[in-house]
Amino acid sequence: MSTDSTSKQTIGFQAEVKQLLQLMIHSLYSNKEIFLRELISNAADAAEKLRFQSLSDETLLEGDSELKIRVAYDKAARTLTVSDNGIGMSRSEVIDNIGTIARSGTRQFFEALTGDAAKDSQLIGQFGVGFYSSFIVADRVTLETRKAGSPSSEGVRWESAGEGEFTIEPIEKPGRGTSVTLHLREGEDEFLDGFRLRQIIKKFSDHIALPIVMKKEGQDGQKLEEEEVINSASALWVRSKDEISEQDYEEFYKHVAHDFQPPLAHVHSRVEGTNEYTLLLYIPSHAPFDLWDREPQHGVKLYVRRVFIMEDPKLMPRYLRFVRGVIDSDSLPLNVSREILQENKALDRIRAGTVKKVLGLLEDLARNHPEKFATFWQAFGTVLKEGIIEDSQNRDRIARLLRFASTSNESEAQNVSLDDYISRMKDGQEKIYYLVAENPQAAKNSPHLEIFREKDIEVLLLWEPVDEWLVAHLTEFDGRPLQSIAKGELDLGKLSDEGEKKAHELVEQTFAATIEKIKRVLGDKVAEVKLSQRLKDSPACLVLDAYGLSRRMESILKSSGQPGLPASKPIFEINAKHALVKQLQDEIDASRFEDMVWLLYDQAILAEGGQLDNPAAFVKRLNQFLQQSLGKD
Ligand code: ADP
Repeated sequence: MSTDSTSKQTIGFQAEVKQLLQLMIHSLYSNKEIFLRELISNAADAAEKLRFQSLSDETLLEGDSELKIRVAYDKAARTLTVSDNGIGMSRSEVIDNIGTIARSGTRQFFEALTGDAAKDSQLIGQFGVGFYSSFIVADRVTLETRKAGSPSSEGVRWESAGEGEFTIEPIEKPGRGTSVTLHLREGEDEFLDGFRLRQIIKKFSDHIALPIVMKKEGQDGQKLEEEEVINSASALWVRSKDEISEQDYEEFYKHVAHDFQPPLAHVHSRVEGTNEYTLLLYIPSHAPFDLWDREPQHGVKLYVRRVFIMEDPKLMPRYLRFVRGVIDSDSLPLNVSREILQENKALDRIRAGTVKKVLGLLEDLARNHPEKFATFWQAFGTVLKEGIIEDSQNRDRIARLLRFASTSNESEAQNVSLDDYISRMKDGQEKIYYLVAENPQAAKNSPHLEIFREKDIEVLLLWEPVDEWLVAHLTEFDGRPLQSIAKGELDLGKLSDEGEKKAHELVEQTFAATIEKIKRVLGDKVAEVKLSQRLKDSPACLVLDAYGLSRRMESILKSSGQPGLPASKPIFEINAKHALVKQLQDEIDASRFEDMVWLLYDQAILAEGGQLDNPAAFVKRLNQFLQQSLGKD
């Protein structure tokens, strides 16, 4: 691409842009008027950015400080134009912002596409399409812009028919800011109707704090020179709650979050005192595509006395990074840089207060709207779990919001709270038992559960990567310790049966010699070999010592590039009642004994969902045994 910026150039779109445009036109057609919300949102954002920058450099306003958004249409030319006198864009910004999809989560979005139109249209709604939604109704879009503070000769015209390329050329542009003109497709005449346009603007953009103006129209539809403001043009969050409808809250969410779908819940609150602020925060109903990005770009917006300062994902702790909305402070200084703001004590207090409000909102959902809470948990539960690790101050409140899969239900649904668990604890049960496994199947079918199933003691089942850290930080809840059933001695506390214990000790004596032999076979693979009290049906299992690093944790640490410690050696437990184990007590030749021990050991790893060091050796041994049994039959 040439960098010559003095003449008109044609530049190809990034491959993804083409694909996105096609998909969008097909999927969003039934909702096409949303393009106007997108363009107005962009214009409002541009004006807010300028207002903030002009606090430190007034010349940027160029003597025109009345920021506004203008919507105009021309029936004869069949065009619709949205213009703003906001921050504007330079030539390179136009190329970067409008010719490529710089938005985070793009890769995940394209990976998630299925080719099934119905499913993909859902996805595109979640991804958000912004400026490109213009092409739903336009077959050509012209954007003219000039960056605030640059000379009028540095205007830029960008134009595209949305078919693979765009042109860009320098223009003379006296007024700063951006105007976007849509050349409407055949049949889109509804957007050339003043009444219809006013209706859409009211619906989508009433809450935008900036005036959106149109030319007044006479009785006959004749346009007059005078302009009128179409929206209420006051920030929604400063209005009193009883003046705001659910619809208003929803539209405002779609604007701040750039989301097509309604939010799950919101909290709107004014905090008085030395540090006064208003917050209007939302929980989205679905996860955004950049939920797992290391550096997400969107977050909560910070305002100081109605002036937009920044949108910063760091305003909320990482475990609440899905929260969207606005915090408007009365006490922070206006003329501050982002860096200073991040170190500001008052802002720290606002953050702490805000976290409590969000947790309160989630508690309310959990208590009063369990279905919504289930939706929340599905979308963001994994993220909320990070809070147990990150936010020790609020650990108890977060723990109360956690939901787990459990042996109490057949499905893999995560719907058991720690309070539910405690309410079902057996008489005399002191601990909250859990199992962290590789995956749901390995969890549900783990041999470690056998004794718990037999005694009808509930066990929480976990399998997400974050769970290893979760349980490392959540060692107790409501005074009850959490206990892994796959680590350390089986400890049923008062639930254990003295008679069984005695019987076990007796069997242990008869197995002592065999256990020694097994130890010699397994060598340094295991820390110890023991007779199990937890197995009922399976012949063997592996147990970690109480404080050891699990194999899974080791592999997670390794894959995340951390050196980590090697996994601690497991304890190999065998079930004396199992026929295969009983055979080990018989007089069998040494090589058969060895093969059997290795088979039992490998099986125990497989049952955990683990990976064998030498799968081929396992298969060979297994086949030998199968062949021998065939031979006998
Ligand atoms: P999004 O708004 O979600 O970032 P868009 O595709 O709508 O995505 O816009 C891409 C970028 O283009 C914006 O982030 C902004 O930097 C720039 N942009 C769009 N419209 C305007 C405008 N009216 N004024 C200034 N910049 C704009």
